[in-house]
Amino acid sequence: MGPRLLIKDVLLGERTTNVLIAGNRFADLAAPRDAAADEVIEAEGMAILPPFYNTHTHAAMTLLRGYADDMPLDVWLQEYIWPREDKLTADDIYEGSRLAIREMIRSGSVFFNDMYFEIGMTARAVEQMGVRACLGITLMDAHPMALRQEKEAFLRGWQDPTGGRISLAVAPHAIYTAGTETLRYARELARRSGVRLHIHLSETLQEVEDCLRDHGMRPVPYLDSLGLLGPDVVAAHCIHLDDDEIALLARRGVTVSHCPCSNLKLGSGLFRYDRMIASGVRVTLGTDGCSSNNNLDMREEMKFAALLAKYQAGPATLPAAEVLRWATRNGAETFGIDAGEIAAGRLADAILVDLSSERFQPRYNLVSDWVYAADSSCVDTVICDGRILMRGRELMV
Ligand SMILES: [Zn+2]
Repeated sequence: MGPRLLIKDVLLGERTTNVLIAGNRFADLAAPRDAAADEVIEAEGMAILPPFYNTHTHAAMTLLRGYADDMPLDVWLQEYIWPREDKLTADDIYEGSRLAIREMIRSGSVFFNDMYFEIGMTARAVEQMGVRACLGITLMDAHPMALRQEKEAFLRGWQDPTGGRISLAVAPHAIYTAGTETLRYARELARRSGVRLHIHLSETLQEVEDCLRDHGMRPVPYLDSLGLLGPDVVAAHCIHLDDDEIALLARRGVTVSHCPCSNLKLGSGLFRYDRMIASGVRVTLGTDGCSSNNNLDMREEMKFAALLAKYQAGPATLPAAEVLRWATRNGAETFGIDAGEIAAGRLADAILVDLSSERFQPRYNLVSDWVYAADSSCVDTVICDGRILMRGRELMV
């Protein structure tokens, strides 16, 4: 059963209750106030909510926060980010990952879907700090064959040291950095290894134009022609898509990771909210890396997404509860994590928000306040897998 954690007098939806966690699962959402527990959180004046699941980032890019801003994606990547990343050591990536995870916990996230290098170092940080992650092994044409073999060996030898908090993915970076052969290899490697695929897709107009020129098709049908698309694929950005491409992503069961702040900051374009929602494709939220955001605050992503959706398709589009679902349950579901809502039997991932903040007054609607009014400093406590990672805004890890 594991240790029992009792959260007393907490607001859950409309009612005040006592939430009992046993081991790493919610055991009872209406426990007696005097239920036996190894640890008690007095949570009067706080509400319990699901935490965030960030479905696209590059954690160690916290080290490049503010390093190069205010320029288009191709110049930013080729002239600034890639040359700087070439100089990062494995230790740098460990420290950058730790910095990212601290920021994520403090803003209410317990999971991130990463794509980077030296992922063994990021795995170490995840293991130590108690969060969850899917770590993508990046594949690019520019890598020498020896490095590809090294990555494949890492994947083959992988054993999750956390007993279920870390999964791996194969991450061909994008169609403009991973050619046809690399994409086919990535698909085959992911299938053979039983892991997910994570890719940047249709982030800029240039990517679409180059794909039409080189392959005679737009990016989504191009990937489909390689057999790459399926329910195990997470595609980040998905900005420049026509109606047929959106329908094809939905048919193949691909999950879209929408990154509104990064897309705005790099001027990449606007997500097609109306079409995406109507297609039934699963949409989740991601921050992208810290050098194109420039933070890892998922609550901000919710607000940006909701406001952009309204600007584009009218004020009734993407209500607060729906964008909260994108940021929480949809993300957890994508990665097979039995969490993302506060429900008995589910994995015990949760945040407690401090309702004494002015941002929650007078509180007509908790979800609306959380999405539109609050900020990440309202997060008081973070629990992942039944373990307290932050309490009273003090990190415990
Ligand atoms: Zn990215």
